[in-house]
Amino acid sequence: MHGTVSLVRSDGDQIRPDLLELLACPKCRAALTQGSGGLRCTGCAAPYEIKQGIPVLVPDDVNTVHLEEEQNLALMMKSRAHHPEEQFNLGQWSLSKREFWAMVRSVATDSPPKRFANIGCGFDPSCAEFERLGHTFVNLDLVFDMLAHLKKDCGAASCVNGDVNRIPLQTGAFDYVVSIDLIHHECERLPELLASFRDLLKPKGILFLEDPNAWGLFQMAKSIFMPRFAYRSLRSAYHTLKRSAHRPADYEFPTNVWRVMAMLRELGFEDIKCYPHTAYPTVSERSHRIYRALSGSEYVRKYHNYHYMLSAVRS
Ligand SMILES: [Zn+2]
Repeated sequence: MHGTVSLVRSDGDQIRPDLLELLACPKCRAALTQGSGGLRCTGCAAPYEIKQGIPVLVPDDVNTVHLEEEQNLALMMKSRAHHPEEQFNLGQWSLSKREFWAMVRSVATDSPPKRFANIGCGFDPSCAEFERLGHTFVNLDLVFDMLAHLKKDCGAASCVNGDVNRIPLQTGAFDYVVSIDLIHHECERLPELLASFRDLLKPKGILFLEDPNAWGLFQMAKSIFMPRFAYRSLRSAYHTLKRSAHRPADYEFPTNVWRVMAMLRELGFEDIKCYPHTAYPTVSERSHRIYRALSGSEYVRKYHNYHYMLSAVRS
């Protein structure tokens, strides 16, 4: 671990200098300084709180409907771990995560120390492994409680509470940017979002992306061929009838793997790769058998999986 750890006060109102230098004001993007009362922007002088060792860099104009939605989603994800009928599905979700991180490890084999940013990290404990290897791994999420758990349960050293629409991290500071299941939450502003990921990366830094695929085997009939407004109203009616604990918000919509690859090319990424993987969550075991029968084809596993997984190098 870094020598700076010993300098941290135990009351958790200070953050490590190596994290501080990676932070930026969400309003004006200037660097932040640390004082006894928390953080302050060196540009616009906006003050920011440090809560339980976590800098709170959520801008005042954050979309509160959106924030509430994400908090509900976080609660729902935690509660469903206890439902027996969810076990098959949850197994697929965790397999999907394992496959994603195996892909990251297969590419990001450089010797430490490297800097990772996991944007919209949720409760993903993968940071622990990379920190053990000597990397810096910044977890960013809009939901504070997820980060507090990550810090408490996994010892995550670098957690930042912030909004993906105004990422409070320094530009050009990261070797790797990770985004899992996030960009479909901002499906109306994909080019801006992907550009902000690019800007976080150093030249030759790599973006690792996973997202629900509009061209997934069991979702393309709805997400590609049905008009979006019709899909949204049907989806909403379905969840009302089913009295679902959580219904997808209107701003969520699966993204199109080919469109995202084309956007990344336009944004100046190169060496864009799509990876095959086997997990297919959200479907019944019966549909899953159909998927397995078809998934002998690498093409299906790459482009018609529930998720697609990409890596792309900033030129
Ligand atoms: Zn500022």
